[in-house]
Amino acid sequence: MALFRELAELAEALAKEPGRLKKRAAIAEAVRRVHEAAPGTEDAGRFALYLAGSPFAEADPRKLNAGGALLSKALLSVSGATSVELTAAYKRHGDLGAAGYELMDKAGEQPASLTLDDVYEAFAEMAVAKTTAAREALVIGLLQSATPLEAKYLLKLMSGDMRIGVKQSLVEEAIAVAAEVPVTEVRHAVMLEADLALAVHRAFAGALKDARMRLFHPLGFMLANPVDSPEEAAERFVGKSDIKATADPSTSLRFAQDDTSLDTVRIDAFLEDKYDGMRAQVHCGDSRHPGRVAIYSRNREDVTESYPDLEEAFSKVSEAGTGSLIFDGEILGWDLNEGRALPFAVLGQRIGRKRVSNAWREQVPVIFMTFDLLYADGELLLDLPLKERRNRLEAVVEKLVEHVRSPLTVDERKREPQGLMFPEPDGEGVERLLLSPSRLVESAEDIDRAYAEARARANEGVMLKAADSTYQPGRRGLAWLKLKRELATLDVVVTGAEFGHGKRAGILSDYTFAVRGPHYEKTGELLNVGKAYSGLTDTEIAEMSAWMMDHTLEDHGFFRTVEPLRVLEVAFNNIMRSDRHVSGFALRFPRIVRIRDDKPVNEIDTVVRVEEVYQSQVDKPRLSNGERDA
Ligand code: AMP
Repeated sequence: MALFRELAELAEALAKEPGRLKKRAAIAEAVRRVHEAAPGTEDAGRFALYLAGSPFAEADPRKLNAGGALLSKALLSVSGATSVELTAAYKRHGDLGAAGYELMDKAGEQPASLTLDDVYEAFAEMAVAKTTAAREALVIGLLQSATPLEAKYLLKLMSGDMRIGVKQSLVEEAIAVAAEVPVTEVRHAVMLEADLALAVHRAFAGALKDARMRLFHPLGFMLANPVDSPEEAAERFVGKSDIKATADPSTSLRFAQDDTSLDTVRIDAFLEDKYDGMRAQVHCGDSRHPGRVAIYSRNREDVTESYPDLEEAFSKVSEAGTGSLIFDGEILGWDLNEGRALPFAVLGQRIGRKRVSNAWREQVPVIFMTFDLLYADGELLLDLPLKERRNRLEAVVEKLVEHVRSPLTVDERKREPQGLMFPEPDGEGVERLLLSPSRLVESAEDIDRAYAEARARANEGVMLKAADSTYQPGRRGLAWLKLKRELATLDVVVTGAEFGHGKRAGILSDYTFAVRGPHYEKTGELLNVGKAYSGLTDTEIAEMSAWMMDHTLEDHGFFRTVEPLRVLEVAFNNIMRSDRHVSGFALRFPRIVRIRDDKPVNEIDTVVRVEEVYQSQVDKPRLSNGERDA
């Protein structure tokens, strides 16, 4: 039976080892050792899963439901430290696990006897625990039987962030080395089944080829790179045969040959409107789970319960005989009279709601605008060129469009205690599946015109997608470009907040925000770039303020540092170099465009992007002494 100590010791060593290959070798050796000590058990799989920082496999819907507040309370109880000591330790390390190590060290050493099975059992119980107190008791139980080093990594694992510079992709490589199988086979199995532990089992059993796609776990989303003008977009697609599916955006920005006129070269790319809604993946039509629907956000969260109207509509796919499907697209608030998208701010009011009343269904009707098909009836389509995926998508939508409907409102009395009984639509119901119009474009002028038309339809801009590109899950490749011509905005995370004045006295309404620093991957480094207070509605500010009270890390009276979890999109007039913030930059006249709870913190902008935007300014302003940036 493998000990958790082995995992904690390896994690500690990996955190100090900068070399990727050495890390991989160390992980591979450990996984092999654990496997050989207990072949055929769950040990090696769990070891790899935990090392990658996940308490449960991705396909497993269970959650620990243990936030920073709960973990801190348990740590205080086991270590006997005061909250002042915990705050000071947290401040020194910026990480609850490391703070825990320091505090537990003072509480004395325990013999290392905790097994991976013990950890698994406690996690399983936490997932079904009915009360916070019960969950806290389980964490206390774990920490009590842990050495300080084990406590450090238990806390990191439970908060889902190991910070040892080991991504899942490195663990996948190590599994391949350990079991002497090709890494592509390991990765493919993980993509199909979303279960790293199962992949370890399969790898050692020589059964990776038996992995079959399962629905109901999110695939990675393909992302786009920004361009600033139709000309730049056109240039990037010229000579697109040079753009390999895996082209690295950092290596080259221009693909046009010097002597090629843009007017004469055809661009083989599809153009669509860029909708300002919420990116989502819809899984439906599985005959083994008739009527089951799952909707995943870009954060890989299951958000189905927030969209019962879509769930009802897509549950009908099972009846249409298309087999299982995975759609990629955008959830949009929809103006039923005008037949066009509502502004994001309107949809935003529904995002995150767990119970959606008839009033909300009526006030903000939603539809799913699909633009890609990732899986159809037993076949994963990611490796097909976009033009073929598009053909398949059009055929499927044509078959389904009449079926995928649901009523605007439902008879709330018919709701069953455990969820919804899917009611038949009154009359026709609302068509919930729409196909994003798409066409081939040929020139910069063509793109320019389409951009103007998209803006006239109140969409954000346009997307360009190479017609022969494969779907690259989780990649921001060069095959998809987005063109939004307004001044750049940045996605940032709130790190602190100040109380406001006047009618905002007592409300945390002025936010300090940060971008990812160069050492983010390893240490979670975030660098502040600005401060903003305008742009949100009173309701949003009240909600943010309450959240920040609950997620305060340090209370300095007027100012509080908060857990860096809330992502904002901020606009600004320009960027200047400044020593006011640790990033070395400050934004001038920043304003909040919107709250972006749909975007994970590990995808916010980086200080490198800030530098790029800074460099792209014709006049690069410097902050004069004493000038305020907000
Ligand atoms: P951003 O959030 O600025 O990185 O832009 C990428 C986002 O654009 C995606 O995550 C989608 O939510 C969104 N998007 C809107 N329309 C489309 C479209 N037609 N194709 C792909 N993505 C789109």
